Amino acid sequence: MRADRVERAESAVPAALVETKRRVAAAEDVIDTTAGDPTRRPPREIRDAAHDAVDTQNVGYPPLRGLPEFREVVVAHLRASGVPADTNSVLATAGATPALYTCLQALVDRGTEVVLPQPAWHGYEPMIALAGGTLTRASGPQASDPHPTERAYQSLSAAVTDDTDVLIVNTPVNPTGRVYSSADLRVVATLAVTHDVIVVADETYCRVVFDETPPSVAAVDGLADRTITVRSFSKSYAMTDWRLGYLAAPDRLFDTLLGHHAHATGCVNRVAQRAGLAALRGNDLHEQARDQYRERRDLVLETLETRGHETRVPGGTFYVLLPTDTDDVAWCGSALDSGVGLVPGSVFGAPGHARLATTLPTDRLRTALDRLCETGLL
Ligand code: PLP
Repeated sequence: MRADRVERAESAVPAALVETKRRVAAAEDVIDTTAGDPTRRPPREIRDAAHDAVDTQNVGYPPLRGLPEFREVVVAHLRASGVPADTNSVLATAGATPALYTCLQALVDRGTEVVLPQPAWHGYEPMIALAGGTLTRASGPQASDPHPTERAYQSLSAAVTDDTDVLIVNTPVNPTGRVYSSADLRVVATLAVTHDVIVVADETYCRVVFDETPPSVAAVDGLADRTITVRSFSKSYAMTDWRLGYLAAPDRLFDTLLGHHAHATGCVNRVAQRAGLAALRGNDLHEQARDQYRERRDLVLETLETRGHETRVPGGTFYVLLPTDTDDVAWCGSALDSGVGLVPGSVFGAPGHARLATTLPTDRLRTALDRLCETGLL
């Protein structure tokens, strides 16, 4: 027995990703840069808060929306980035994945059109397929466009029409590291307001940014009452294993989202929420990891420059796109033969590139780059 929706979701997973995972898992002596998973542990303050929660917390199910004190800290954090929120509009979730899933399940029916700017994280399309939505891919801002021009947005402007219901905006972008600027977001706002579209803003990497704090999507004029903000503790605090995130939604959408959340993933464990509370209260606990990702990004960019490649500087995330020849799948196969696992860019709608995650210890990353250079791939 197998429901159709599973079929739909699985066929939305790029074959090149499945094949890459299979080959990397089977390979020996491989430096695996494919996973967007920090290899460090969360900072001590976060771990201490979790220990304390285990010893002192109440028993029983946690509140469906999340602990009031967790939501209060989240609200302060959102407001600091200009996102209007109050404790009644915030929902604790087990990471960004269930938050995004709830958004799509609660808003998208068969035939509902969802526009997805490319390149994009490969997780969205199976979720859109599970909901039965109609996917429209459009070209989003590219890592190489420091300043958006109308031309850069032509594809997006053509894709978002009166038939569009939902637009997904991920900033900073996995896999390019591109951070949407205020000008980018004004284009998004114009399109969303003109065509009455709901924006799902995936800000999973909002604290892995290397320059000034980027604008939040819902903070831009016109977007507050039509944007659902999704954030996660996974990447900023190396808490992938803890499963914690949240969403914040305008009043008119909140009950709909809650109505799905209640019957899907439900409440999030208290230990993770208390740890997350310590993470946000700690204020600068994300900085050490971020600075290390910046150093590693620079190491990769220096290597590319030394080898005569044009570079695109990611403003955030811990990914760098490496240039490949036209067949990025074959290039990644050769990279694997030389002992380095990378994800073909075509998995994300970025053909001609390979995605490298800088989450490995620096010496391993250096060895990976040496291997790629020695075999002439870079
Ligand atoms: N959104 C983006 C853009 C991601 O890259 C990821 C994970 O790689 C997620 C969401 C899911 O994150 P979480 O661990 O919070 O579920």
